[in-house]
Amino acid sequence: MPRPIRAVISLPAMSHNLSLIRQYLDNARQAPASTQPDTATARLGATYIWAVIKANAYGHGLENGIRGFAQADGLAMLDLQETVRCRQAGWDKPLLMLEGFFEERDLPVLQQNKVMSTIHHPEQIRMLQSATLATPLDVFLKINTGMNRLGFAPQQFAQAHQDLLTLQQQGKIGRIGFMTHFADADGAQGAVDAPVQVFRETVGNIQGPISLCNSAAVLRYPQLAVSEADNWVRPGICLYGSSPFANTTGDEFGLRQTMTLQARLLSVQHIKEGQSVGYGSTFTATRDMRIGVVACGYADGYPRSAPSGTPAWVNGVQTQLAGRVSMDMLTIDLDPVPDAVAGDWVTLWGERGPHIDEVAASAGTIAYELLCALAMRVPVHIEQPGESIEK
Ligand SMILES: *Cc1c(COP(=O)(O)O)cnc(C)c1O
Repeated sequence: MPRPIRAVISLPAMSHNLSLIRQYLDNARQAPASTQPDTATARLGATYIWAVIKANAYGHGLENGIRGFAQADGLAMLDLQETVRCRQAGWDKPLLMLEGFFEERDLPVLQQNKVMSTIHHPEQIRMLQSATLATPLDVFLKINTGMNRLGFAPQQFAQAHQDLLTLQQQGKIGRIGFMTHFADADGAQGAVDAPVQVFRETVGNIQGPISLCNSAAVLRYPQLAVSEADNWVRPGICLYGSSPFANTTGDEFGLRQTMTLQARLLSVQHIKEGQSVGYGSTFTATRDMRIGVVACGYADGYPRSAPSGTPAWVNGVQTQLAGRVSMDMLTIDLDPVPDAVAGDWVTLWGERGPHIDEVAASAGTIAYELLCALAMRVPVHIEQPGESIEK
């Protein structure tokens, strides 16, 4: 018998979220011209969605990401082997390596699998110059507009672009697009204004597709996804049902959680006022009470930093952690659920449970980290299209 713990990955929730984001983008396109970046007469390019499936599709499993986001225009990731798996799974639309290639020997694999590459560093251009390429590689040239992580500084841009044009003439490069990534799209209102201006000034009148928006930018500044050029947005976290913004949950945007983490009660303890629970005795009962021991710990990916008071649901009733999370177990207050017995399912996060954004906030982190940390040992159940697994 497997341990009584499971993650339910919902493909219908994934496709729901993708449709919702498309709706946001469609609304932005229909917004009055004055709120759009270009004049009313400017021809608008199309807006396309790269569904970001890096980090094993944010912990959901790469193949589940491919199926859940079947309606996306492209998939974006970091690992070359993942692009190969996408093609093996039958994905025939665009693929993008968000950090590009790492070594010259990656280039034939990119070409065989028709993968686009971000170009963020002169070393990548050097590798392209020395490589022999059978077919032209489509690229996005990445500009550092202030995040200071990856990308060419604005003053390096002209040289990098010139080098790419030369490679294009040599038939090594196909289409050249332009990309940047925001540090603060989830921060103060208007925090993207300066980087957007740097981007526009740097690219100037050069034609080509552009790519600016992560989840936070799509939700907050959807007008940035509407431009004269073809515009590729790169949402990740929102497609998994979570909010990129502090103190909100994905529910507030109509997003559906795509991962539900559940485990059964292994045991019920009756403790007396003054007795404590778990390692470090961090929780002490202020009354006689029942404690439920749940078959989920930090080795399953549940955050050890989640303190007493973090929400958990039993049989549809909200209760909370009581005591420190251990490797294979955690403990909850069962007083709000008098009928709960060993064997009942506890929802740690997900649909019909606490929102993962709330659990993450309680643990002092973000849903991204919880999703990515789901452990290999947790059995995964997949909710198929048209199906609803009882959670
Ligand atoms: C991870 C990532 C994204 C997606 O970010 P979210 O906040 O999950 O939407 C977009 N672009 C790049 C370059 C990334 O690395």
